[in-house]
Amino acid sequence: MDLFSLKGKVAVVTGGNGGIGLGMARGIASLGAVVVIAGRNEDKAAAALAALRDMGAEAVFIAADVTKKPDCLALIGAAVERFGRLDILVNNAGTSVRKLPQDLAEDEWRHVLDSNLSSAFFCSQAAYPEMLRAGGGKMINIGSMMSLFGAPYATAYTASKGGIVQMTRAMATAWAKDNIQVNAVLPGWIDTDLTRGARRQVEGLHASVEKRTPQGRWGTPDDMAGIAAFLASPASDFVTGTAIPVDGGFSIGM
Ligand code: NDP
Repeated sequence: MDLFSLKGKVAVVTGGNGGIGLGMARGIASLGAVVVIAGRNEDKAAAALAALRDMGAEAVFIAADVTKKPDCLALIGAAVERFGRLDILVNNAGTSVRKLPQDLAEDEWRHVLDSNLSSAFFCSQAAYPEMLRAGGGKMINIGSMMSLFGAPYATAYTASKGGIVQMTRAMATAWAKDNIQVNAVLPGWIDTDLTRGARRQVEGLHASVEKRTPQGRWGTPDDMAGIAAFLASPASDFVTGTAIPVDGGFSIGM
């Protein structure tokens, strides 16, 4: 058994051009898979491709705005056209709007739901027939501590990340018979562009996360590489429908 080999496999990682997505892309690439990173920002993509190629990976960037269903379909179609198959999909692209619920505008609510939840639905739906054709596959959806907890300034974000967990369970039950495993990862506080923005807005956030996290530190994108490698590989073939915190203990501390 080669539990941790992804040689010959093809992965698509949305938002793989930076932050957690790039950390996960590195984990999957380290096991030998070809990695397609998708996003909007081409400068970030160029740097991400250089990092992946530096580690010897075969990697390409496909531009896509995953809030748009046609872009999700085109992304999966282009990946399959280029590499002939699709085995792994990481639905990682996401965003947040920091506002109290009473102040959240309709377009802000829709943008967060479209970015974090509908994007994952449409990419998964497009990936399903390709994984069927490949004889199985792995889908990894990115939730959050906000899949578990509430927070006053994160209504749309929390709704989308709670939805990710339930969508994961539904798809895991639907597609288990097709040898497709669908799991969610719930990152703790990870040092990325997203949380750098939050730390600029919220005084004391950096220290309060350190204090509340049993491991006493923020996570890094590379802390997300191992869980992505595990959930993408044959080692997790009997693991489906789970929501796994990768959080230095944040969700089990007081
Ligand atoms: P970043 O802002 O660093 O990365 C987000 C990525 O998503 C970017 O690469 C961005 O690419 C991409 N993206 C966003 N919107 C779109 C879109 N419409 N179309 C295509 N790509 C898009 O943040 P993180 O790495 O922190 O976040 C990644 C995921 O992890 C998100 O789902 C987030 O909610 C989740 N998460 C993050 C945590 C943290 O502490 N950092 C904790 C828990 C969950 P581009 O710039 O090219 O648009």
